Amino acid sequence: MTVTQNVFFCFLCGKHCSLIAYVEDGQVVKVTGDKTSGIHSDVCPDAKGPTTIPATYNHPDRLKQPLKRIGPKGQEASFVPISWDEALDAIASKMTILKEEYGPESVAMILGEPKGLEFAFGQRLATVFGTPNVITPGCYCGVQTGAANQFTFGTMMVNADDSIEETGVVMIWGNNPRHIGGTFNGMMPKELDARLARGCKLIVIDPGQIDYAKKADIWIRPKPGMDGVLALGMIKVIIEEELYDKKFVAEWTVGFEDLKAHMTTFTLDEIERETWVPRAQIAEAARMFAINKPGILGSGNALEGTVAALQTCRAVSIINGLTGSVGVPGGLVIKEQNQFYRPGRFYFPKGFPRQKENSIASEFILAVGSAYVPTQTLVNTILTDQPYPIRFGFFSVTNPLSTYPDAQATYEALMKLEYMVVADIFHTPTTQLADLVLPAALPGEHATIAYWPAWLGYVKCDPKFIDPPGEAWSDMKIFNELAKKLGHGQYFWEDVNEVLDFMLEPSGLSFEEFKKTRIFHPKKYYLKGNEDRIFKTPSGKMEIYSAQMQSMGIAPLPYYEEMIKAKQVANESDDYPLILTNRKETGFMLSGYRVDQGMRKRYPEALVEIHPETAAQAGVEEGDMVNIETRKGRIAQKVRINPELDPRVIMPAFGWWYPEEKTNLYEWRKSNLNILVDGYPEELSTGAVQLRGIPCRIYK
Ligand code: SF4
Repeated sequence: MTVTQNVFFCFLCGKHCSLIAYVEDGQVVKVTGDKTSGIHSDVCPDAKGPTTIPATYNHPDRLKQPLKRIGPKGQEASFVPISWDEALDAIASKMTILKEEYGPESVAMILGEPKGLEFAFGQRLATVFGTPNVITPGCYCGVQTGAANQFTFGTMMVNADDSIEETGVVMIWGNNPRHIGGTFNGMMPKELDARLARGCKLIVIDPGQIDYAKKADIWIRPKPGMDGVLALGMIKVIIEEELYDKKFVAEWTVGFEDLKAHMTTFTLDEIERETWVPRAQIAEAARMFAINKPGILGSGNALEGTVAALQTCRAVSIINGLTGSVGVPGGLVIKEQNQFYRPGRFYFPKGFPRQKENSIASEFILAVGSAYVPTQTLVNTILTDQPYPIRFGFFSVTNPLSTYPDAQATYEALMKLEYMVVADIFHTPTTQLADLVLPAALPGEHATIAYWPAWLGYVKCDPKFIDPPGEAWSDMKIFNELAKKLGHGQYFWEDVNEVLDFMLEPSGLSFEEFKKTRIFHPKKYYLKGNEDRIFKTPSGKMEIYSAQMQSMGIAPLPYYEEMIKAKQVANESDDYPLILTNRKETGFMLSGYRVDQGMRKRYPEALVEIHPETAAQAGVEEGDMVNIETRKGRIAQKVRINPELDPRVIMPAFGWWYPEEKTNLYEWRKSNLNILVDGYPEELSTGAVQLRGIPCRIYK
């Protein structure tokens, strides 16, 4: 039998490593790394792509037909297969009736992290249908970093330069470049390793000992959730010891004096008290980063999990700028992508502006500006019917019951929702509550273009090389065909694959031609030679003080009072003496792929990392189940002893449910970290909530 080799990009995490699928007799028999694309083939240590992708393609439990629930919601679900025509007719009919009776805004489009163009299709359908209520996890993933860079430098694309020789120091902050999420600033493990081999300094800031912490010159273990306060401590040292790049600051920044004045309003002793980081270590790290410039501060998703997230990310942007590390070889460069139709434009076809004032999130100025509704706003709106009832939810690439904060409230909201459609590749706790379940196809089972995370600026070709299981369709096709049923066909495509050529029009290539090119790299800009265009802020400079933010009612500087809110909302007390953070396990992608038996052999169940002294005090040992309790609720996870942790910190795992457990919606509550997390209060620009730095206790 002939085996064909097919190049594609891994769709399990934002790193999108270059891979080869070996196809025999219509089945993917093996996946390996691919060295030919010129970009990352350095797959993660768990080899999630090579392990999980073939297992997922070939898994017997893949959804293969549209399914309609029979029986009451909330009990053990049973479904009967129906045809695509019946399913789409039912969905279109329900949406049309609701639109006529209650307005299009009574329908919510609920999207997760995209793999190809499905997110863009979901946004476009929502726009044309007329609902502003597109819910995404942007409130705790990506938006804060992007918005901070946008306000500070005028673009979201501020990424690591590939001139490896010039980099003097790298700071990895709340980011694990070897695993998921190691994508912010585009700093990939091989590029980082090459820098380190040349003698580049390394600072790691993480409560847990990631691989790179062992190699670091300085490893800082802050109190979870206090990253913003720590960033201010570093800025204070850099300014007060005059370690900043004076020429850059004088010529290319606005607001430096305001920032300098604010640094006198707090002391390093206060920073030490709030962050648990000795002031000497704060100063040592700040000096190392400033003196060895250009540096790259690669921050990760962990910094986006508090109510101070936006201001924390602003402080990170400012550290990069103050030290003269932006726009120079070896530092961070401004990037731009102009070979691809801008997805934001795709969301809004001409004549269909989004009705922001009608959005259930109209008070969240950056959220509505970025075309999303925070997840917990959806939950709260369904539960309270305020400002108006949401009656219908279309869920694509998302499993809110496992991934949204305040899982109990999410459950109650989904139970209340009048009609739920869920498109997915497997059953999940969320599909169990659906009225209709639609079988989705993965990249490789259909052709698509990967552009996410958009702030990295890469555009990648994902051709089709196998057929999807049964009658599964790509989410793109589902949206496209639903649009036709709703009478919006003129804004979509006769054959969904036509969109691939359309998106590539700016490049002058067809999708067939793009298969050979495989990847568009973003164009990079240094400050030298691009002085008139590099910072696309209102002032044309790096904006330390952002008048733009001020005009939106958002703090224009990352003030101490803003950062300390992450502690104030945590509500510490003696009853809950420990602090939990939020650990994304390396073997999975958020709540996804728990059905992969190969990976489950390595990670059979949810593990909470605990310091040995803390475990001894609670009377638990390695391998015991332990109860973890916050004011919000209680879950159980298995103990893994980790002597490298601060004894005051525990690290439970995120995203757990048990597909092998057939009761209680796959035991969705048992180990679900989001049972412990409140959905309120929210930060009022992006809707960020407190996901880490939460007081807790443990017991047997
Ligand atoms: S899951 Fe692993 S193999 Fe896939 S893109 Fe991410 S790092 Fe690469």
